Formats: sequence, C-alpha cells, structure tokens
Amino acid sequence: MNKPVDPENAPGPTESLDWLSPYFLGSYAENDELLEKVLVEFLRDHVYWRRNFHPEDTPPISVLAQHGPDYREFVARMKSELHGLSARLKQSVPFFNPRYIGHMASDLLLPGLIGQMITTLYNPNNVTDEAANVTLEMELEVGRQLAAMFGFSTDPASRPCAWGHVTSGGTLANYEALWYFRAARFWPLTARQATVEAELDPGVLDGLDGAFVKADPARLFNLSLDQVIRLRRQLYEWMGTSLSPAQARALARAIEAGRIESLGEAGFHNAHPELGQPVVMVPVTAHYSWEKALKLLGLGSANLVTVGVTERMRMDPDALHAALARAHDQGRPVLAVIGVLGTTEYGSIDPIHEIVSARQRWRKKGLDFAIHVDAAWGGYLSSLFRAADGSLVGHGELKKKFKYFPGESVYKAFAAVRHSDSVTVDPHKLGYVPFGCGAYVARNRGLTDFITQKAAYVFEGSEESGPVNYERRFRNLGQYILEGSKPGAAATAAWITHRVLPLNQDHFGRLCAGTVHNCEYFFEHLDELRTRLKGTARVILPFEPDSNLVCLAINPEGNRSLAAMNAFGRRIYERISATSAGDIRTREFFGSRTLVDRSALNPETAARLCDELGLDPASFTENVADPETQSDRIFLLRHTLMNPWLTGKDRGLNYLDRYCRHLETLIGQAIGNGQ
Ligand SMILES: *Cc1c(COP(=O)(O)O)cnc(C)c1O
Repeated sequence: MNKPVDPENAPGPTESLDWLSPYFLGSYAENDELLEKVLVEFLRDHVYWRRNFHPEDTPPISVLAQHGPDYREFVARMKSELHGLSARLKQSVPFFNPRYIGHMASDLLLPGLIGQMITTLYNPNNVTDEAANVTLEMELEVGRQLAAMFGFSTDPASRPCAWGHVTSGGTLANYEALWYFRAARFWPLTARQATVEAELDPGVLDGLDGAFVKADPARLFNLSLDQVIRLRRQLYEWMGTSLSPAQARALARAIEAGRIESLGEAGFHNAHPELGQPVVMVPVTAHYSWEKALKLLGLGSANLVTVGVTERMRMDPDALHAALARAHDQGRPVLAVIGVLGTTEYGSIDPIHEIVSARQRWRKKGLDFAIHVDAAWGGYLSSLFRAADGSLVGHGELKKKFKYFPGESVYKAFAAVRHSDSVTVDPHKLGYVPFGCGAYVARNRGLTDFITQKAAYVFEGSEESGPVNYERRFRNLGQYILEGSKPGAAATAAWITHRVLPLNQDHFGRLCAGTVHNCEYFFEHLDELRTRLKGTARVILPFEPDSNLVCLAINPEGNRSLAAMNAFGRRIYERISATSAGDIRTREFFGSRTLVDRSALNPETAARLCDELGLDPASFTENVADPETQSDRIFLLRHTLMNPWLTGKDRGLNYLDRYCRHLETLIGQAIGNGQ
C-alpha cells in the first residue's frame, strides 16, 4: 500500500452491504427471527428423530415424574444457575459488534453457528467413524475443501493427493505439522540402519544414486518428503516380495524400534551421532505456538532459529538464506522452514514463494527442508485467489477489486502455498466459525504412512503389502492425529460454512474482500486523523498493512522519549481494552495492542520509525532489561478489521470513521492527563 494518499479522492465505501444481510445474527441481532426459526425447526427435527427410533419403547421418563417435586426442584436449580451464567456472560467481550476491532474474532456466520448447535444434539466424536459415522466424512471433506482452496490436488488418483482434518485450533495444527515432519524425515536413517543390521540389501531406492544400505545419513535426511514417502513404499514392497513373512516382520519391527518416536531424541542421536541437532526456522514474527511445539516434541526451543524480517514485517529472504547457510556450514539438518501467511501481530504475509525458491536452490547443495505455511490467520484469504472452477485468479484480475491489494509479493506468496508441504488454517478465525475449529492440511497424504500407533507387523493382507486405502485409514482418524476424542460439531460447522459459501472469490472470498476493503479504507482515512491531530500528536503506521490488520504508533508532539511514548500508548489502550476495570458495556471501542522489539527491526527501520515519530533514536535501544520503561520495544495499538460492517455506505454507520474520532478524543485526554 504505498501510493501517495489524496484525501480528497480517498475511496468512500462504494458498495452497499445488503448482500451480507442474511450471513450473521447481526450486531443488533437483526436476524433473531431467522435464527430462532431455524433452530426451533431443527430442534424439533432432532426430537422426532429420537422419537422415531424404536417408537415402540415406553418412554423411560414418565409424564408424572415430570410433575414431581424432585423434578421441579432440579429445574428450579438449573434455571437459577442458568440465569447466573447468562448474567455473567453478559459481561463478555462483544466480538459481534463493529465496535470490536481488537483480536481475531467477530460475529459468527449463521450456517456454522447453527450447524454446530444442531450437531451437538447428536454429539458425534470424530475420533473414529464408530463414534462419528456421519460427521467424520464431513471432517475429511473439510480437509479437501481447504486443500483445494490452497491449490493442492485432492484427486485420489493423483500423487500426491492432499488431505486435511479439523483440529482444536492453529496451535494443535502447528504441533502436528512438526510431528509429521519429524516422523517422516528421520525415518530413512532408521530404516537404513535396521536394514544394514539385518544384513539385507534392497538395492537402489527412490531419490538415491546408489545402494540404500550405503547411503550417507546426511543424504537420507535431505530427501524431499515425497521421496521419503516413495522410498518407504518401495522398501515395504521389496520386503513383501523378496523377504519371507518372518524376515519382513522382523525388519519392520526393527525399524519401528529404532525410530526417534521410540528411542526419544537422546537415544536417536546416540544411534546416529553423525547427524547434527536439527533446527526449525521461523520468522521472528511467528506465533508463540512454534516455541511450544519444539518444547513439546523434545526438539528443544534452543533449536528454533528465528529469521529476521523486512521493514514490512515479512520474512527476509536474505536472512533466510543466511540462516540456511549457517545451518549448512554447521552441519545441522533443517527439519522445516515455517512461513506465516498473515502474522498474528501485524498481519504481514511472508514471501512463501521465496521460501520455495530457496528450497530449490539449497536442494542442489544437498540441503532440503520441509515447508509449512502457518496460515492460521490469513489462510481464508486464499479464497479470494480461487476462481469458482478452482483455478488461480490472475493478479491483474484480482487487483481490479482493490486499491492496493494484493501487492506483488503478497500475490506470489498466496500462489506459492501449493508448493508447501502442509498448512495450518483456523476456521475459528477468518472462517467466522465458533471456537475451537482449526485445521491441518498436508499436500501429500502419504505423510500419514509414518504415523501409526499400531506397528504394521502383519504383512499378509495388511495395507503394507498393497496400495494404501486412505479412505479406510482415515476412518480411524484418532490413530493419525495428535488429538483423541474431538467434537464432530466443530467439523460440521466448517463443513456447512464451506457448502453455503464455497471457498472461492465469488462466495467466501467476497467476505474476505470486505475485510481488505475495510483495511484500505482505514489506511487512507488515517490521513484525516493525522491532519486533525497536527501539532498535538503523531500517528503513524509502522508498517503498511498486507491484509486486514493495522497497527498504529502514537506519540505526543514534542516527546522525544520512547519510554514516555510507550506509557502514553498504554494509557490510550487502557480505554479500549477488554480487561480494564469498569463496566465493559460502557466502552466505546475495543482494540488490542502489540509490541515490536528493537531486535526484530533492522537499523534502518528502527531509525525510520524514530524519525517519523519524532523520537530520539538513542531512546530506542536493544536488549534493555528494564521492564518498566521497555525502551527496547515500541508499543502499538493493533486492530483486526474482520467485522464486515466497519464501513457502511451511510457515513453514520461508518465505524472506522467513528473509531478515528474516538481515538482523537482519547489522545487529547491522554495528553491532558499526562501533564
Ligand atoms: C492464531 C494463530 C495461531 C494459533 O492458533 P490458535 O487457534 O489460537 O491455537 C498460530 N499461528 C498464527 C499465525 C495465528 O495467527
């Protein structure tokens, strides 16, 4: 978004939002009748379903018992507690309202909300089809819907064929990505060692120049995931045809016993001392779930390498290259590089295409890595890039819908997601589906070959001796994912949302486009606020927004100290925070906040920010331990513009204009109070 702004010609909200009318309950619960009618209809439907199941049975709850004192007492207690619950819930943060522009939450799309409530009546458990004979299939379809949105092939006849499933959220999906990568990428080393120890020789396998048993550990670790998947299949085929069943079973057992999942990190590295400590690379802006993932998997958070970002807060390809070169020189294998499609704090879009091309270059030098795209936030924006026929929308065509979006790098990043190995996306964020509904999608479902809780010791008649029947496999979903019992209702919420609003530019994408339009509107209209605040305070965008998240830094005119500016920002934040003291219902607007660390910025960006804010650069220092002044970081107000009603056609309904005026008032008051 780097065009000069001309306030006279700044875009007004051009489109009527009437098309959105039936999508949500609405900030005034305008669609109350619709919701009530549909809920009652399907509640009754459920009631008759119960009644029609063995209607010949006598109802165990007698009508008379329903009039007894114990019954009435229970109902009285329940109602009184429910009144209490409802009263407390009314202190909740009003995510549904356009005055809420804080965290990644908004109103809920009606299909998903209703779908989830109705499904809960049936209470399916998507851990296995025995507990979810209807909804497990829908979960797998959600996986295909999302995979197609990212451009992966979902044709079972194609190799690779993608798959995906629902998780409790993005955090779990991120854990799972690393769990799969670890399972697959260490596998060839174990398989080779077990084969050598058994004095067997399967010859040359896929991806290798010479005999498998002679392969160098570094080479085996640096196979691509597709190669590892093929190598394993070839080895098992060979075992099935060339070895006796007893020999094959023994080898399969030895491989399982030698895996990192069996031995643990320490045991595995003792068995393979030549392999260095693996690293995982993320941009400095990555979500904290990545650090948790390394701790949880025993990979060690010290082995999380943070890669620097550009002044747009996108992963810096040069910094990635340098980090890869360092790992290469130190002989440290790179388990995965994570790119973020919509960072949690700044909404920035990492150049996924640059990560993909870095991999192509490094492969030639013998260094390979898996690529995971953490699109927990921005994943649904991919629907904007998909035509109804599933093809990628051209950059020129897409640009026509917006003033600035999507820039060159952003477009290329979205187009390149299909070259990654797996993706995290959160239906409970930009999918407008109730919590907890995240999703994990893998480009190649063969990754699940490496995850099994039951070792394949039996060759005869098992899937190991022939092509895998994935449809059958995933009916035992709990065997292949991190979670166990899980709500089928979360999966149906996403499923029905994608059925009503298919994940392409004409349907779901329209909603996403609205969020980007809101962001562009905010971006351009900030200039009006700046003009009004001239001589009072400086308001800057520290980085131009990539999507629909905007951060602001505010400094009172004349203040040169970063610590004082941060304190000032916190005073303003107090007034728009959901957790400040006082009745939440009297708050005018809700925003959130974030910090940008000096260490995350290159010197030029740090200098530019100081200059734009009128700060003394010496007051912005690296690694200051003083938690009071926090002069090693800049405090920012952060706004997630996902509510679709932020910019109404009618100016009185324009919440972004109203927010800017409110901010002006708060700034004036904060300056008054500070003196
Ligand atoms: C929100 C988010 C996560 C974590 O997802 P949860 O659903 O909160 O577990 C991970 N990565 C990114 C980029 C996110 O925005």
